[in-house]
Amino acid sequence: MDRKNARRILAILAGRYPDRWARERYAASPFEVLITTILSAQTTDKSVDAIRDELFSRFPGPQSLATADIAEVEEIIHSTGFFHMKAKHIIAASRTLIDKFSGVVPDTMEDLLTIPGVGRKTANIVLYHAFGKNEGVAVDTHVFRLAGRLGFSDSRNADGIERDLMRLFPEKDWGVLTDILISHGRAVCMARKPACPVCPVSPLCKYYLEKERGKA
Ligand code: SF4
Repeated sequence: MDRKNARRILAILAGRYPDRWARERYAASPFEVLITTILSAQTTDKSVDAIRDELFSRFPGPQSLATADIAEVEEIIHSTGFFHMKAKHIIAASRTLIDKFSGVVPDTMEDLLTIPGVGRKTANIVLYHAFGKNEGVAVDTHVFRLAGRLGFSDSRNADGIERDLMRLFPEKDWGVLTDILISHGRAVCMARKPACPVCPVSPLCKYYLEKERGKA
């Protein structure tokens, strides 16, 4: 897809999903953004939202979480799934913050990638939502699926998709692009059954156009 059509799609979807949702969700300290993002893997926002108050009132910063009893953390985050691995990661991440970064979440990709449980996706989300930085595009399961369907990328891996998205869209839009594609992936372009007949970008969507061509 060319840049012009890609940006038309983003403009249409941006009108449909003002990015307030994401900004409210992440209106928190960098520490909370980091921990919440690690916990968000393979689960719904609802299940993370349901435990975040309890988690952060019990462990308000890296100091308390770094020395936490893992069984207590597991009990609190149990409903987010993969709780054993996630508990280990958020405790280890807190220890790294204390040991390497004086208890402060770093604001560079290079430093964030040294924290246990943090890959490019999480680092991109933290950089954007905690520091307002656009260093890349976070590719989660929704972004992965929609990038393929819309025709933004033919790549079958997250790094390739991120590179294609960074080429198609201006840097200032990289953070919000993820939020908007996630919103659209949840509301309309669902994994199992995309609601193409009510989708505002169907006239520009590769998946939809190919399906229609196949019918003709
Ligand atoms: S037209 Fe269908 S496949 Fe394309 S973005 Fe919309 S819902 Fe998804």
